[in-house]
Amino acid sequence: MQLASQSEDTDQKLSPSIHAALVDSLFDAPAPLLTGLVFAVIAAAMTALKTGEPLIWACVALLIATGAFRAFDLQRYQARKSTLTAAKAAGWKKRYQTRAIIQPAAIGIWCATTLLSSDDAVAHLICLSVTTGLVAGGAARAYGRQWIFQLQVALCFGPPAVALALRGTPYYMAMSVVCAAFIVALIQISANLHKIFMQALVAREREAALAGQFDTALNNMPHGLCMFAADGLLAVMNHRFSEMMNLADDVVHRGVNANDIIDACVSAGSISAASGKVILAEIQNSEARDIITADPDADRGRSLSWTFQPMAGGGAVVLLEDITERRNAEARITHLARYDELTALPNRLNFRDEIERLLAVPREAEQLSALLFIDLDQFKQVNDTLGHPCGDQLLCAVADRLRNILRPEDFVARFGGDEFVVFQQNIKSNEDAANLARRIVDHLSERYKIDNHLVEIGASVGIAMTSPHVSADTLLKNADMALYRAKADGRGTYCFFRDEMAQTVEARRILELDLRKALAHEEFELFYQPLVNLKSGRIATCEALLRWNHPVRGTVSPVDIIPVAEDMGLIVDLGRWILRKACMECMKWPEGVSVAVNFSPQQFHQRDVLSEVRYALEISGLSANRLEIEITESSLLRNTQSTHDVLSQLRSLGVRISLDDFGTGYSSLSYLHNFPLQKVKIDRSFLEGIDTDRPLTLLRGVARLSADLGMSVVVEGIETNEQLELISADGTVTEAQGYLFSRPVPAVRVRQLLNASHGRRLPDEQVIALPLPTRSIA
Ligand code: C2E
Ligand code: MG
Ligand code: MG
Repeated sequence: MQLASQSEDTDQKLSPSIHAALVDSLFDAPAPLLTGLVFAVIAAAMTALKTGEPLIWACVALLIATGAFRAFDLQRYQARKSTLTAAKAAGWKKRYQTRAIIQPAAIGIWCATTLLSSDDAVAHLICLSVTTGLVAGGAARAYGRQWIFQLQVALCFGPPAVALALRGTPYYMAMSVVCAAFIVALIQISANLHKIFMQALVAREREAALAGQFDTALNNMPHGLCMFAADGLLAVMNHRFSEMMNLADDVVHRGVNANDIIDACVSAGSISAASGKVILAEIQNSEARDIITADPDADRGRSLSWTFQPMAGGGAVVLLEDITERRNAEARITHLARYDELTALPNRLNFRDEIERLLAVPREAEQLSALLFIDLDQFKQVNDTLGHPCGDQLLCAVADRLRNILRPEDFVARFGGDEFVVFQQNIKSNEDAANLARRIVDHLSERYKIDNHLVEIGASVGIAMTSPHVSADTLLKNADMALYRAKADGRGTYCFFRDEMAQTVEARRILELDLRKALAHEEFELFYQPLVNLKSGRIATCEALLRWNHPVRGTVSPVDIIPVAEDMGLIVDLGRWILRKACMECMKWPEGVSVAVNFSPQQFHQRDVLSEVRYALEISGLSANRLEIEITESSLLRNTQSTHDVLSQLRSLGVRISLDDFGTGYSSLSYLHNFPLQKVKIDRSFLEGIDTDRPLTLLRGVARLSADLGMSVVVEGIETNEQLELISADGTVTEAQGYLFSRPVPAVRVRQLLNASHGRRLPDEQVIALPLPTRSIA
């Protein structure tokens, strides 16, 4: 039993297939076994006949019964239909074990009975030789089940060996020993056979597993694979390869070579004959290479990548990959990188490359080309009011109109936003470009119907004509400058590039650079101009005015500096510097004198304008009621509510607000009413023709209205005593400012001026008129 249980343990470690193979080996080739059974019965019958022993006849009956059992089992095993599963193998093994034990036991009993019950030497010879033969035969068949065989040998030969020993004669005793040795030898032989059998089984299984894995890997890889041996014959082809190449099953058989395979691929229409030739050459070539073949079927449009890898001992591996999707994706990415997604027009990059290419083509001198830079007017308003989807539709409609206007050889692109560019080729004169520009402006200005909205926009066009050796970038830059001018000229028009535009732009670029440097190196200076209180005759306020003394440019006017600084976004930093400097300077003046600082709209609308003011007051130590901020009407134009809030907050700080240059802008009287202003500065343009009635009436009217609203009134630009007399006659104007009193002067001079005038009340007719030198500005 220990033997059995050991064997069961080993069985459990075996794979089901090996286990089944072992069981199968027990039932394999039933003919010799059946023959053995028949011989055993015949031999037993012969011994019974020879000896006449009834006991031996009983053994014959026993052998017939056990033999019939085994024969029946063998016949059922062979007749079974189903394959041998692990569970069924276990069942058959059990049946075999019982039958295989009973039958050898019967033979052993017969042999021992014959040896003990008679002295007939012939009978002894028959039973011993037949038993030996049967056991030897068993060794050859039961090697698959070691313990069964060992038991069979013991049961078959054990009783005869004991019987021989029991007879007690020396020859029989010797035979008994021989039998015992025979048992050991048989067990040994069977063990060796079993070992060889097991090794073969395991090796077979390992090979089968490996082959299975290899097969699975080959047939499940996304690539097609073909392997050609050194003699050029096909060694391996996976399913994917034949599927991709649309090869019939009968093409792939033993003995086909690369030529046959490629011919089959060409016949199947998977590759062209030309591609086939290249592929064959690569297979024969001993270098690793990659090639891509195009599809002979243009509709299918498949791209195949072939990789050829030579093998060490000759032959080659061919890998095949369908890269159509990857190539399409790459093509899509390239398209996206070179075309505008919305309008499907070429984009900036594409346009630039194309123009560079076209410009490089040699042309006759009279053949001109023009680059037209188009910008849509009022597009932003459409986007803001109707929303971006409508804006997008509008851009597509614009693109369509442009396509319709142009000739096939002209090239149009979208540069992003509402900018489009056209390259007009092969024209004879500037007039052709002007004609196209006019048509573009007219067509694009026609109404659009977008989502039931009627939309109207305009277009401005800048034109740059090609000249020999001009680059695409220069052309684009020039057209852009011309566009800038067209827009400045009132939009809805076109403008040709001229050289002086480049000079203006260049001058502006240098000015910008200089301005940045000036701010970093504090090259700016503040001049101050007094505002004289007409009642007291004293300087009530001094206005801080920016000056820039440039080593080359000389003194640059703030009128030139401020707009550039605003465009550059530099005004906030510059304004901060001016505010702090002015506040600090004011601290050096007599108590009653305030400082007025000009704020540009951008500066006024910066988010932290209040904290800027607070901080300037804090670091200078100036009290808020000595600071006046001068804003222009344009500062009041936008963000009405937040503008109102900022003004109120400044007011509650104690800072006064002046409305500067009143009368030059919208001159809306509602501003005077709606915003918390403390002062109105009437622009000096009001003084023109003041000696006639109308302007004076107007000036007095505005001054009275402002005074009635509780504001002090300042008139700027007083240059003559006559002007002063006229504006001060009715007593509504509180302060005056102008060259008559003083030009803007440097800080040192204004201090001297203030010290001189401070504490002294000037007679009404006496004014401070200092003969200060005029500084050239700009
Ligand atoms: P504004 O604020 O109206 O300043 C008054 C301008 O009129 C000054 O010119 C001043 O020199 C000039 N002016 C004063 N009295 C007379 C006169 O009797 N006759 C004539 N013909 N002109 C007179 P300026 O200094 O060239 O400043 C021009 C403008 O530049 C200023 O007009 C102001 O709008 C702006 N600005 C000047 N400095 C600054 C500043 O620091 N910040 C900001 N944002 N703007 C400034
Ligand atoms: Mg001012
Ligand atoms: Mg002014």
